[in-house]
Amino acid sequence: MADLLRGLQAAIVAAFVLLALAALIDWIRHRNTRRGYLALALGSLAVLILMAPTLGQAGALNQLATDVAVVVFLLSGYALLMFRDSFIPLGAATRRTVTIAFLAVAALAIVARLPADPQQRQGPLQSIALFAVLIVWGLCIIEPIFRMWLASNQRPAVESARLRALSLGYAALLAVVGVGTLDGAATRPPYFELATDLVALAIVPLLYVSFSPPSWLRWVWRQPEEDAARSALHDLLLYSPDRATLAHRALGWATRIVGGEGAVIVDSDGSILAAQDLTLDQAEKVAAGATAASSKGGVRASSPPATRLVIPLNLQQGAGAMIILSGPFTPMFGDDEMLRLRQYAGSITAGLDRVSLNQRLATLEKAKTEFLNVASHELRGPMTVIKGYLTMLDAGSLGDLSSQSKSVLPLLIAKSDEVNWMIEQMVEAARLEEGRLALHKLSADVVELTDLAIEGVSQLLSKHEVSVDKPNRAIQAEVDPDRIQIVVKNLLSNAAKYSPAGARIRVRVSGNGVAQVAVSDEGIGIAEEDQARLFTRFVRIQTKATERVSGTGLGLWLSREIARMHDGDLTVESTPGRGSTFTLQLPLNG
Ligand code: ADP
Repeated sequence: MADLLRGLQAAIVAAFVLLALAALIDWIRHRNTRRGYLALALGSLAVLILMAPTLGQAGALNQLATDVAVVVFLLSGYALLMFRDSFIPLGAATRRTVTIAFLAVAALAIVARLPADPQQRQGPLQSIALFAVLIVWGLCIIEPIFRMWLASNQRPAVESARLRALSLGYAALLAVVGVGTLDGAATRPPYFELATDLVALAIVPLLYVSFSPPSWLRWVWRQPEEDAARSALHDLLLYSPDRATLAHRALGWATRIVGGEGAVIVDSDGSILAAQDLTLDQAEKVAAGATAASSKGGVRASSPPATRLVIPLNLQQGAGAMIILSGPFTPMFGDDEMLRLRQYAGSITAGLDRVSLNQRLATLEKAKTEFLNVASHELRGPMTVIKGYLTMLDAGSLGDLSSQSKSVLPLLIAKSDEVNWMIEQMVEAARLEEGRLALHKLSADVVELTDLAIEGVSQLLSKHEVSVDKPNRAIQAEVDPDRIQIVVKNLLSNAAKYSPAGARIRVRVSGNGVAQVAVSDEGIGIAEEDQARLFTRFVRIQTKATERVSGTGLGLWLSREIARMHDGDLTVESTPGRGSTFTLQLPLNG
């Protein structure tokens, strides 16, 4: 047992020395005051433990060594309190009082010539001095223990775990020192001593992980939050309709990661894109780098001063930034969260850029629809007048025309029909895009509708040989008759446009299971790779053969949409150079 205890004692000394060295290296790497205080707090504990065996031995230097040990002991508590003060300032008066108390008690201990062993018989002054030393040290330790534990509440996982580890480590240290002071080593049963030594040894990893947690431990701490964060980011990037919403969601999520108390996203033009837990005024101050936000004009009057974390966002249109007012502990204890935030800033930037691109596209689309709407309506009136007068001229109602003039009239009428047909497609396309295309369905005969459509575009088909293959009976379907005629007319006019004059156009109507209208031509055909694109709005296949054919690129898109609104479909089969067949399918009645 004695060997075990000796071994443990050696392990404790080694562990505390290593801990102090790690804190020292951490401070050298970062060079800031708060890490300096932590290194001082842990370093003085290590010095104390190293000095322990030399204390209480007879000799001239004995008292001097004891006095030094008392001062170092007090320093370990004072440094911890100053470490806490670097996050949440104590206030000038309190700091002064603590420093004076620390110096006064150190002086008192030296004057009283405290013995090395607290259990040794003492005079009244020594008792008072010992009591004062323990009280001052204890208070310097207890306050930060509670303060850090409280601060760990509602913080992000890793930050919270690190604060708790520090708090627990010091609580255990307090317990070990308390036991050691109240109860002399000689009177302790060996198992009790074993237990205290084990606790003392456990303090070291606890304190170590608080300022330098290994990555596997961070990973373990982070797990409960990870899934939620991943799905939040996923939703954020996929389902945000506009930049402001995306920015707002990104802030909510970012502040959760680092436990922020308020946040702002500044756009590339310097304007506030979104603010969280801040008024617009406060947000502007934060964005402008005003310190006001972190002091008087701050977020919550009672909260400790916040730290501004600035994460740059390299947006396509220029540099923006995400600024988070975090709790004071974040820069030191939340470096893990900050790293993640920086990593995700890339995703947020990409998300914002994607939304702005979408917004620009949507604006363009809207402009296109508006143009379609306006243009088609403006053209409709004049074209009705032109077509009306041409028909009157053709019928001779406006007097006789020379034979030369009369000969061009059929061409003029055919061309005005072509334009009217394009206008009709544009009007319908604009309606469809604006969600105004409502079907007026009734039970109609698809055979009759096909005949009407052929008649409606007879001028356009005049140079082709049209054959119609249809059953002798009606094929009843629940359809919007006008819209179905638009589809068939479109297929017929395309068959005429994209096949040479004189070629055959076959129309087949059937009603076996479904109503079908197939329009075949012997024209230029469509390459396999182009067939899928045909039904997209404004898409026209550009080839030598089509360059002189006029059109809008709206017809097939509109036709397929109409077919699908009827729970039907429009499909194509085509061989380049040989011809195409477009088939409209519609469900039958009942
Ligand atoms: P457009 O007004 O250009 O005819 P559509 O949407 O009706 O618009 O057709 C889209 C494109 O599909 C046309 O530009 C043409 O390249 C091709 N296309 C449509 N019908 C045929 C056909 N019967 N034969 C060959 N190509 C066709």
